[in-house]
Amino acid sequence: MTTLATPSSETSGASIAPADFIEKAPLERYVPPARPSLVGLSRSGLIEALAGIGVPEGKRKMRAQQIWSWLYVRGVTGFAQMTSVSKELRAVLEANFTLARPDVVAEQISVDGTRKWLLRLPGERAGEAPHEVECVYIPDTDRGTLCLSSQVGCTLTCSFCHTGTQRLVRNLTAGEIVGQIMVARDRLGDWTAAQPGTGQSGAGRRLVTNIVMMGMGEPLYNFEAVRDALLVVADHEGLGISKRRITLSTSGVVPNIARAGSEIGTMLAISLHAVTDTLRDELVPLNRKFPIKVLLEACRNYPGLSNSKRITFEYVMLKGVNDSLADARALVKLVRNIPAKINLIPFNPWPGTRYECSDWEQIEKFSEVIFAAGHASPVRTPRGRDILAACGQLKSASEKLSARERLALRAMAMTDD
Ligand code: SAH
Ligand code: SF4
Repeated sequence: MTTLATPSSETSGASIAPADFIEKAPLERYVPPARPSLVGLSRSGLIEALAGIGVPEGKRKMRAQQIWSWLYVRGVTGFAQMTSVSKELRAVLEANFTLARPDVVAEQISVDGTRKWLLRLPGERAGEAPHEVECVYIPDTDRGTLCLSSQVGCTLTCSFCHTGTQRLVRNLTAGEIVGQIMVARDRLGDWTAAQPGTGQSGAGRRLVTNIVMMGMGEPLYNFEAVRDALLVVADHEGLGISKRRITLSTSGVVPNIARAGSEIGTMLAISLHAVTDTLRDELVPLNRKFPIKVLLEACRNYPGLSNSKRITFEYVMLKGVNDSLADARALVKLVRNIPAKINLIPFNPWPGTRYECSDWEQIEKFSEVIFAAGHASPVRTPRGRDILAACGQLKSASEKLSARERLALRAMAMTDD
């Protein structure tokens, strides 16, 4: 019998893969509800949905365009609001579909404006515990970045990442990925076409301007859903977040880096974290399958690279492990022929981890070496610490919750782009 992952299962010994595991198998598949949500569908997906409910072929394209616009430009939450669609069709839509986004279970707002939403994704089977993922919004002076999850858990087992100790429950659907942005826009009042006096932002002033796929999961192991979602997100007649403002972070799934380049075309971030294969094999076990040389070759071939379209190399600062100045020099050398940015991430410790975050002075020295070689090397400053503190009492209540806090802290630190 398959055991379903429950909120406490990640703490059980059985859920933690042995250190020499590269990948764990996904446990579950998504089973769509009887009345699926239209959120996340592309134009052609909407046309197909309309075909399925008997809309005559000649009308499908036009109707799909109307619905697309209500959905992704206006952000409506009910079919009744789609006033340009006939009442009759609205009733049929209502009977067959929803406009549901993931449920918001909790919202936390930091004094620095960072917001964290705990989202509940429906369980697929009766009696099954719902899945939960987090989505974090980080406002900055010139941008607002939303950090999205692509999977519940992760099949990979990076030794410094807490998500890596969880069993993968399942891949998120494209709808659930797009749904995270819909939720953020709903909660922030960030739909451009909002009416004056509704408390919503007006056209021209977007709050969510950037997307990073840096939450839970390995986006390139959920390739199709991530691709379909990001293409919807980047459509300039819809959610309208351009590909230059979307960054996909990967631990190095080499074959899918090329696919991401040709089929998605967003900005790319690589979780490098080590300059030798020996160390990277340990930190990012996927390196045994796709070693540094092969990974960097895939980076070099990523389409469209230039000074203004650089690959971001993420480097988590682990005390005494990868933070020597020799490492810094080797890092600069490794990325020499690639238009690159280097992003230093202070390690966020979690209970049971064998790693510590590098000392601040060491991070500064490391960053100076990189800077001297001509790279800006922003250190991601954790944001929203106060809301993490606020849920401090949850920490003792369950391992799962403190894992979420760590995920949020990590996500909040992703403010670079
Ligand atoms: N799976 C993808 C994207 C999600 S992780 C990837 O690995 O790239 C987003 C970033 O957070 C990655 O660079 C990851 O290595 C880093 N990260 C994971 N655990 C961390 C921790 N405890 N402290 C700091 N950064 C961490
Ligand atoms: Fe998965 Fe990324 Fe964590 Fe590695 S760092 S276990 S790929 S989420």
